[in-house]
Amino acid sequence: MQLEVQSLLARGEPVRLRESLDVVPLLAGMRGAEPVGPMEAELTARPAGGLIEVSGRLTGRIRLACSRCLTPLEETYDIPYAETFKPVPEGREDKEEDADIVPFSGSRLELRPYLESELLLHLPLAPLCDEACRGLCPECGQNLNERECGCRRERIDPRLEALRKLLDGGQQEDH
Ligand SMILES: [Zn+2]
Ligand SMILES: [Zn+2]
Repeated sequence: MQLEVQSLLARGEPVRLRESLDVVPLLAGMRGAEPVGPMEAELTARPAGGLIEVSGRLTGRIRLACSRCLTPLEETYDIPYAETFKPVPEGREDKEEDADIVPFSGSRLELRPYLESELLLHLPLAPLCDEACRGLCPECGQNLNERECGCRRERIDPRLEALRKLLDGGQQEDH
């Protein structure tokens, strides 16, 4: 998704951009996240005092797995996007102090990497099928939302468990 910078700045009028982006390669390395169709980008690029303001929405559907019970879920995302770009001459060090302004060089602005990182930022780290999801039994793997398995599940702090083993071992040596 490229923006012709010179013609945009010369014309001085907003340009609408619309493109379907294939995000399969982007999400290929993400365990459990799989796009359902492309990401639709609907953006407007506005020249503003030598800067370019790009804003709009990124929408699409994504397949995820519940982080507790691994049940597949499909979610629709609708991510607002807004970024300000500043054209800088090629090879020149940019002294831009404002962290909200993204410097770039060249006559074309490739927006794809910015849109992709926006999507990655908005992917849920721990998606849930339900806030009350009970997850899988750590003993037998039963999905506890479906039925109770009857395993004894004591929540033992691993550090306390190590201490207990150490004390048990010590007692045995005494005998
Ligand atoms: Zn779940
Ligand atoms: Zn169980």
